[in-house]
Order: sequence, then C-alpha cells, then structure tokens
Amino acid sequence: MGGFVMDTRRWPVPLQPGLVYGPIASKRLGRSLGINLSGIKRKLCNYNCVYCFYGPTSHPPEPQEFPPVDDVIAAVTAALNSIPDVDWLTFSGNGESTLHPEFPRLVKEVRSVAGEVRPWLPVALLSNGSTAIDPSLRETLTMFDLPVLKLDAGDAETHAAVNRPVDKGVSFEPIVEGLRMAAGTGKLVIQSVMFDGKPSNSRGRPYHRWLETLNDIQPAALQLYTLDHPVGPVNPIDTGRLDRIARDVEGLGIKVKVYREVNT
Ligand code: SF4
Repeated sequence: MGGFVMDTRRWPVPLQPGLVYGPIASKRLGRSLGINLSGIKRKLCNYNCVYCFYGPTSHPPEPQEFPPVDDVIAAVTAALNSIPDVDWLTFSGNGESTLHPEFPRLVKEVRSVAGEVRPWLPVALLSNGSTAIDPSLRETLTMFDLPVLKLDAGDAETHAAVNRPVDKGVSFEPIVEGLRMAAGTGKLVIQSVMFDGKPSNSRGRPYHRWLETLNDIQPAALQLYTLDHPVGPVNPIDTGRLDRIARDVEGLGIKVKVYREVNT
C-alpha cells in the first residue's frame, strides 16, 4: 500500500529499507512507526496502480518473498524498546501487508508485543483493500484501531484502468462486497486518491459510480486525496474540485477528511 513517504516529487521513490521504519511525521497519525511486511527487495503488491509512487509492479508476490514472522516481531520489539516517542504503529511499507501469508498471526503477535511495551499505542493498517473478501483477513481488521482501505474506483472498468491488478484472481465486485461487510464493524475508513488524465476517476461516469459505491459501503469516514504532482498519464485535481467531491461525499452522510498530498 505504501505510505508516509515524504518527498514524492522523486519518482519512483526508494523502497523502505527495513522491516520497521520511521517514526515518520504523518499528517494523519502524528509520529508513526511503520511496519513493512513487504520485504526490502521489491514492491510486493497485487496492484500496479497508475499513480504508485514506488513505480511499476513487475509481477505478483510469491509467499516465500515475505519476511518471516519472527524477524518482523524482533524488529518491532527492538524499535519499541529503543524509540520513545511514537504515536501510532502502522502496517504499511513496500506493498500490500495483507498478502503476507501469516498476516493474522503477525498482527496478533505485534499487538501482543506492543501491549507489553506500550499498552496505550494504537495500531493502524493502510491496505489496498483487495483482500477484504477473505473472512479471516476481515476478522483481522477488527484487531486494528484504524483500518484504512483503498477505493479509487466504483466500477470494474475503472478499477482495471486505475489499480491494474497484476494478480488475475483479483476482481472488483467481490472487493466491494468485502468492504461493505468490513464497514459493518463501524471502524472502516476508506482512502481514495482522485485524479484527472487517462484514466480519470474524478469526473463523469467513473466519478458517479465511485460515489454510488461509497454510498453502498457506508464507511465510518473517507480520507480524500489527490496527487501532489503528475505521475505518468494522470494529474492532480485542483483544490476546488477536491472540495466539491468532499461535499458530495458528506451529502451521503459520510465524514470526510481532505488531504492535499498523497502519502501523508
Ligand atoms: S496498492 Fe497501488 S499504490 Fe499501493 S503499493 Fe500497491 S501498486 Fe502501489
């Protein structure tokens, strides 16, 4: 999913170099210590988003490419014992955390370690949402204080053009169904990046389908972004358009927080 990269004017931005990174000063989460389950050699993601700041996804991840649970727990424990000033622990990093073959166990163990060292420390997830249809992963979402899942499209055609899954097993309708079920917890936050260009998700039919889908899901809140610079064929939308989109979403009874830059 990526996140918390401060200088996205360099494209692609370098991968996070460790299993734990930061703490990063995040506009959303204050001082956030990132947990990177996607390893350090390449972006491990099932999407190839048209705007991805880590550059193109060459092929889907293999299970053996993800780091062992013990290594992640050791890195998180060491960081928590040595870094005093942290507001959030956040699963993000070089790709999609929920694809880790032992994601539910990992989250449980991270919560357990964090509970011993800093019982008050909240835990967030930034995910592309593609695995929300899996019941065990949806169950795992309930372990997060803040689960943030992506929705950049409201129809299969726009999803294919924007998020460009590299895993042929990923399809749009089941994802929406999974997000709708995940929203039942009352904690689900959706993150959407809106842009113009080819493709665009901020105007015309793709935009109206996105609004309808959001209304259908009814998340607890929306984090609304645009890009902070053009990436390949897509461009940021202006502040006025972003604010009008926010008003449209608020009209659905969904709380909105607008961010002027992606990844913060
Ligand atoms: S979900 Fe998209 S933006 Fe996030 S890491 Fe994967 S390809 Fe990049």
